[in-house]
Amino acid sequence: MSNCILCTEELKPGEGELIWRGDDCRVILVNDPDLPGFCRVIWNRHVSEMTDLTYGEREHVMALVFAVEEAIRHVMHPDKVNLAALGNMVPHIHWHVIPRFKDDAFFPGSAWSARAQETPQASLENRKMLAQALPEAIRSAISQMH
Ligand SMILES: [Zn+2]
Repeated sequence: MSNCILCTEELKPGEGELIWRGDDCRVILVNDPDLPGFCRVIWNRHVSEMTDLTYGEREHVMALVFAVEEAIRHVMHPDKVNLAALGNMVPHIHWHVIPRFKDDAFFPGSAWSARAQETPQASLENRKMLAQALPEAIRSAISQMH
């Protein structure tokens, strides 16, 4: 699909950082000022639903999601990890892997809900600092997948 923003692998300025790319999937560290450590696992080809993938492909994408989750837990120590696959706006398989904290802007709502509170600046700065270790931790977790 030529108008699909995920078919175009190029990131917009300030959108985030490509931290790993394989033949089927890629992993982005999203630059979200409210939610440091927000990652996205994206299927490279334009596929709409998980059940459009073969069983092996489904297992592969989920293994990547879990590798990212493990790295996020290890590095960021979140209160909760949110896994989300919506795709209503962009019907191209992608999983959001989001470290959540009780004082984050949207807690306990989803990352797309209305702001609920202001995160103390010190907490936010600390999380941004921790998130700098994520690219290496995620690459390491993925390299140990098989
Ligand atoms: Zn697409």
